[in-house]
Amino acid sequence: MDSTKNLPVAVIGAGPVGLAAAAHLLERGLEPLILEAGPSAGAAIEQWRHIRLFSPWRFNIDDAAVRLLEASGWEAPRPTAVPYGGELIDQYLTPLAALPEIASRLQTGARVLAITRQGLDKTHTRGRDTIPFVVRVEHDGGDIRDYPTAGVIDASGTWSNRNPLGTSGLAAVGEPAVASRISSPLPDVTGSDRGAFAARRVLVVGAGHSAANTLINLADLAKDEPDTRILWAIRGASAAKVYGGGDLDDLPARGQLGARLRRLVEAGTIELHTGFGIASLASTGGAVTVASVDGRTLEADVVVPCTGFRPDLNILRELRLNLDPAVEAPVELGPLIDPEFHSCGTVPPHGAALLAHPEKDFYIVGMKSYGRAPTFLLATGYEQVRSVAAALAGDREAADTVQLELPETGVCSTDAGTSCDVPAAVAVASESSCCAAAEPVLIGFPTGLSHGRSSQEKLAASLLSSPSSDKEESNA
Ligand SMILES: Cc1cc2nc3c(=O)[nH]c(=O)nc-3n(C[C@H](O)[C@H](O)[C@H](O)COP(=O)(O)OP(=O)(O)OC[C@H]3O[C@@H](n4cnc5c(N)ncnc54)[C@H](O)[C@@H]3O)c2cc1C
Repeated sequence: MDSTKNLPVAVIGAGPVGLAAAAHLLERGLEPLILEAGPSAGAAIEQWRHIRLFSPWRFNIDDAAVRLLEASGWEAPRPTAVPYGGELIDQYLTPLAALPEIASRLQTGARVLAITRQGLDKTHTRGRDTIPFVVRVEHDGGDIRDYPTAGVIDASGTWSNRNPLGTSGLAAVGEPAVASRISSPLPDVTGSDRGAFAARRVLVVGAGHSAANTLINLADLAKDEPDTRILWAIRGASAAKVYGGGDLDDLPARGQLGARLRRLVEAGTIELHTGFGIASLASTGGAVTVASVDGRTLEADVVVPCTGFRPDLNILRELRLNLDPAVEAPVELGPLIDPEFHSCGTVPPHGAALLAHPEKDFYIVGMKSYGRAPTFLLATGYEQVRSVAAALAGDREAADTVQLELPETGVCSTDAGTSCDVPAAVAVASESSCCAAAEPVLIGFPTGLSHGRSSQEKLAASLLSSPSSDKEESNA
């Protein structure tokens, strides 16, 4: 970064991973410019502050951020307690963002619209690596400004870009026309949004942590409001994966959530419709009729879209990216997290080398780095930004030595004795990382995986051949 060394590094997003990136940059003597679209740090989590996380505090806070906080007298929450989204904001993100070191470098109400290289469009190569980036920002009130920066860390998450309800990745036929009957992905059904759900027919669509949370909260609401009817539509043939690890889950909060959901379905409180890929939605006399691709229909007053998220790549249009064609994660990372082949929360720790793009000194980190895969964990993101800050500072050795302790998350199929939800070819390779005994695993190895093979092959090869696979290292 020689010709740009007096410029800051742009950090897009003041979520947990963006703020951690800023803390690591500061430790490296680099200057962060933190650009946050929302009114405050943690603006995306603010939308789900009523939801409890599934991982305890010890996995949710970043080491460099803690060092900054503790220097100002902050006391860490109990490491084993599992916080709500609101507690993560109030007890960690807000105090962190208020520290003078961070606050003086954080602009809120600052939405990044686009990133490019100064004076160069995407097609120009000569000198590209040594020319500053330009980050175009729209500030609240409409003022648009360009900021030259030495590097860019995109930690803007995926929250504002939910997947459509349609089963083939497009909005279902009629979906935009019934938008007023579709809620946010994680409504507060027993709190501020209660009025829209009490004594209504509510259809929850999706098979992840968000769906599980919303369904359980709706069941609580139905105790007070017995006319509330809870419908649950999933595309798959079984909800086993959502039920998760139960007692075997290394994240007990997550295990308990799944077990409770299973009981509610078995008791008939929640009406589960499997194999229900959505083809169309239509407004019918104040309600919405949701039709599946095989011709079944469900009537609901409100639809909750827990269909996951996808990265907004529009702001990156002028940059040279190398993304996995399926998952839209950095190309080396995609095969390790592709939900079709790898349903586990655990992934080998990785850093700058794996996250690099042809665009030098540009990195996507945090939730957005997982593209469309839903299994991102904060602990993974914190190791990503430690490594990226080291790489931007020119400390290649620190950047390439990645080390991380991760919990088993029970995202795998967990019926005792069954294997991971992966094809047979990779099941053996995956066993140690996702279905084995629920011990936290300490993994550390230099980054860099094989090229030029299919996602499945790469996944199997990387897990089988790594001399320091998680199974071996867990004994360390
Ligand atoms: C309900 C729920 C529960 C979860 N529970 C856990 C858990 O228990 N453990 C765990 O490890 N992970 C959990 N996750 C996953 C993940 O850790 C969180 O989504 C986390 O918030 C990701 O952090 P992030 O910083 O990458 O992104 P975000 O928290 O989404 O932050 C991104 C920030 O970027 C801002 N932004 C977006 N676009 C722009 C732009 N163009 N310009 C400027 N700013 C922008 C947003 O306003 C936001 O503040 C959970 C996720 C959800 C949704």
